[in-house]
Amino acid sequence: MVLLNLIAIYSMLCIVTKIAIAQPVPYEFNLNINNNFNLNFELQPDGLIDHPENPKDPSHGEPSHGGDDDDYDDPTLPRAYKKNPKLFNLHKEMIHIESISGQEYEMSYYLINYLRKEGLNIELIPTPDGRNNIYAWYGDSKSTKVLLTTHFDTVPPFFEYRAARDEEDRIYGRGANDDKGSIAAQLIAAEELLKAGEIGKNDVSFLFVVSEEVGGIGMRSADAYLKEHGVNWTTVIYGEPTENKLAVGHKGIYYFDLGVTGIASHSGYPELGIDANAALVDIMYDLNHYKWPSDKLLGETTINIGLFEGDYGVQV
Ligand SMILES: [Zn+2]
Repeated sequence: MVLLNLIAIYSMLCIVTKIAIAQPVPYEFNLNINNNFNLNFELQPDGLIDHPENPKDPSHGEPSHGGDDDDYDDPTLPRAYKKNPKLFNLHKEMIHIESISGQEYEMSYYLINYLRKEGLNIELIPTPDGRNNIYAWYGDSKSTKVLLTTHFDTVPPFFEYRAARDEEDRIYGRGANDDKGSIAAQLIAAEELLKAGEIGKNDVSFLFVVSEEVGGIGMRSADAYLKEHGVNWTTVIYGEPTENKLAVGHKGIYYFDLGVTGIASHSGYPELGIDANAALVDIMYDLNHYKWPSDKLLGETTINIGLFEGDYGVQV
C-alpha cells in the first residue's frame, strides 16, 4: 500500500482488557481525570479561526505553508528536509508549539488553520471540559474508507525543536515522534496520494484528539460523538510509536486508586490499631499473583502498582 511506503503509520486497534477482581473487595476505585479547561473556538466566515485568547507567541499559530528548498542550508533543519520541504516544515512548526495535555489550545488553532487552508472541511468535537478535538475530511462525506487519527497533546516537559545533522539525521523536540511526527506524516501522505490520483476525496478523513496522554477524554468524546452522528470507516490507522512496526493491536488501560483506612496506634499496643499498610501489602500481593485474563494477540495482562503511599510514623 502506497500509504505505508510513504511514511511510517502505525495501526492500533484498541482492545480494552477488562480487569476482574477475584473476589469482592471493599475498595473504592477513582478514575483520575483532572482537567478543567474552558477554551472554545469561534469559526469565522472565511473558515479560519479567530484567535480570541492570547497565545504565548501568536506567530506560532499561523501555518506558514512553507517549505522552500532555500532552507536546506539552514543548520537547524535536518538534511532530509530537501526531500520534502512541506512535510518537514509542518513537522517543525508543530513541534515549536507547546501542547502539553490540557494546554492544547494553540496547537489546535494551528492545526485548524492548516486544515482550512488545505481545503479540508472541519468539525470541532468538544470534550466535556471545553477543549476541542478536530475532525477533518476532503470530500462531501464525513464517513470515509480510511480514518487517519492520532493525538496532538504531549507529555511534559516541553523541548524545543532541534535537528542534529548527525549520521542518522535525527530530529529532537517534544512530540517529534509522539505524535506530531504522525500528524505531519498522515497529512502530507494523504495530500500527496490525493494529488497523485491514488485516492479520492472521500477515501480519507482525519481525527486529531486532545488529552491522549492524560485520561483519554479526547478520544472518548470523539468516539461517542462520531458514533452518535453515524460517521464510520472501513479502516482506522492510529499513528503512534511502535518501533517502525505495523501494530494491529494494543492493550487498553484502566487506572484506579485503591485506599485502605486503618486505625493508628502505637506499635507497643498493636491490639488497639488496624494496620492499613499491612492490608495494602496483602492486597498488592493478591493483585500481583491473581491470574488476570490474557489475550491471544496481546498476551498477558500487565498490572503495575505505580505509586504506594501510606504512613503515620515509624512507631505508629
Ligand atoms: Zn502517542
